[in-house]
Amino acid sequence: MTDWLIAPPPAASLAIADDARRFAVRRIYCVGQNYAAHAREMGADADRPDPFFFTKPADALVVDGADPTYPPSTSNLHYEVELVVAIGETGQPVGWAVGVDLTRRDLQSAAKTKGRPWDAAKGFDQSAPCGALSLKPPAPDAAIRLSVNGEVRQSSRLSDMIWDVDGIVAKAGTLWKLSAGDIIFTGTPEGVGPLNPGDRVEAVIDGLPPLSFVVRA
Ligand code: MN
Repeated sequence: MTDWLIAPPPAASLAIADDARRFAVRRIYCVGQNYAAHAREMGADADRPDPFFFTKPADALVVDGADPTYPPSTSNLHYEVELVVAIGETGQPVGWAVGVDLTRRDLQSAAKTKGRPWDAAKGFDQSAPCGALSLKPPAPDAAIRLSVNGEVRQSSRLSDMIWDVDGIVAKAGTLWKLSAGDIIFTGTPEGVGPLNPGDRVEAVIDGLPPLSFVVRA
């Protein structure tokens, strides 16, 4: 039996709707800009910008209806509603959820200007609220939307993604070996904006368990 200097940290996991089991999370990958401003035009692959990826630590997840705390070192916290896919033993999605990619936009803007990494802008504590997984996918053109204090701020369709889930999984697989327990935030549509302490966020993708939380002071 291993004798630990420190106790192993708890494993991150997601609830599964209508299922007593949980999904153990290994890594969180996130896709950068992945929605066209207009209805997607069907073009050659070469005409599409390549998706790019960043990561968040697995323990950045906020699950089971918990409320994230407004993070330190920012005055411009942004919401980004996203489809989250969960990778199973086959290396393909086995679960789908609604997530919010919380972003310290001021730190991201500074990082972009200086050509520095995004970790502090994207991978901070409690930066990844995520709803329960569905074991059935949403419709390919399901509505995705986010409201703040009852006012709709983002409203789009999954079919507006530049790279669909199959394309994202294929591209990520050229960069990493996707393994059971990996989840991917697949990018956000237009309409991102700031959150303040006390704001109530409701994030919905039709066909999936909804996600809601309050930003704690
Ligand atoms: Mn995002």
